[in-house]
Amino acid sequence: MELEIKRPEHIVPSYSLTGDLLSYLRCRLQYRYHNGSALPPSRPVQLWFGEFLHGTLEMAYRFWDELRQKGQQPPNFPWPCTQREWRQNSPNWKAHDIGKFADIVENALRQQGKQARSTAARDSAYRRVEVAVNELGPHLFPLIASTERKVIGTRPVPPSGKELRCDNYEVHGVIDVLTHVTLSKASDDNLIRQCVLQVCPNLPETFEVIVDYKGARRPLTDEPYWEQGDWQIQTYAWLRERQPDALRVVAGILIYINELTPGVTEMQALRRGLSHGSTDMMPDTGSQDDQIVRMWREGMDTSQLSLAFRLRRAIRVIQISPKSIDHALASFDDVVRQVEEDVVAEATDRNILQAWAPNCQDEATCVACDFRHFCPRPAGVPADYKIKAPTAP
Ligand code: SF4
Repeated sequence: MELEIKRPEHIVPSYSLTGDLLSYLRCRLQYRYHNGSALPPSRPVQLWFGEFLHGTLEMAYRFWDELRQKGQQPPNFPWPCTQREWRQNSPNWKAHDIGKFADIVENALRQQGKQARSTAARDSAYRRVEVAVNELGPHLFPLIASTERKVIGTRPVPPSGKELRCDNYEVHGVIDVLTHVTLSKASDDNLIRQCVLQVCPNLPETFEVIVDYKGARRPLTDEPYWEQGDWQIQTYAWLRERQPDALRVVAGILIYINELTPGVTEMQALRRGLSHGSTDMMPDTGSQDDQIVRMWREGMDTSQLSLAFRLRRAIRVIQISPKSIDHALASFDDVVRQVEEDVVAEATDRNILQAWAPNCQDEATCVACDFRHFCPRPAGVPADYKIKAPTAP
């Protein structure tokens, strides 16, 4: 009897847009260690801040929206943000206390083994989320049509010189916020509306805008994160437009939350961008913001920067077109091809450091990385380093 040859298993690997593809672009070795092991990273600091921020903003919005749905007027901003100890001892705390929302999210993350790296990082996260709710909320909350929208799609993997394990891959993500006609109804002084109209002056009658929060500073235009943010929004637009209830997506907004309370990292990057001509959002020449930025030295206060300037730095509007979507999809397809080639290389050579050679260029990421103690090339080490060949057992 002739036996049939066993067909190779049909694999369609699933990639999260942010958790996999952007993580791989940040550093392929870090990505491999985080994803090839069942152990969660011991100090997932970036993950913690991102999730803390998303969760707290979501809770604050839901509170605001629930009141509105019931026909009640939500409390005016700014909302208080108090310590848990104070609330426990005071009968006067308010239901819209941002500290309460943040505590709930922090506890939920702790249950999952995710904690802030230090007390200072936690305090800073609380400050940032307070400012985000109070300064962004009045402009963003009235525009929101839905939140936490899951999107998913399938794409072909581009041809490779290696024999890959798959022909197609699945890509998925969660869109933080969708807004549509509400945007055109927003008041003229709504800063988000103004920013979108600057980039898309001729909005069609029906449309959608995708919003994504970033727990990060605004990248410089010559940093890879600048382009990668664009790819992410374009890919979300492609995924969203394939859903039955979707309208045409005309733009995406990335909100760089750290720009609302600029610290040393944000100010240093802004000044670097000004001197190299690599930032797209500058203070108006001769304005008070301009003077503060030019005079700034480490340790100086930035609280005098105007809200309008900080919001303009935080809000980045990205126009969507079929051409820009195609470019982003092709770029991410190519990233998947590279990941799949690294999977094959590891299976063939049995050397993780060779197959997933570290490529992070961002020193802040390396400082917070769990694997920096044995990483052969943290950021700052010349790219032409040599990895030692594996020794025979
Ligand atoms: S230390 Fe930097 S280069 Fe090395 S694995 Fe971590 S993130 Fe990558």
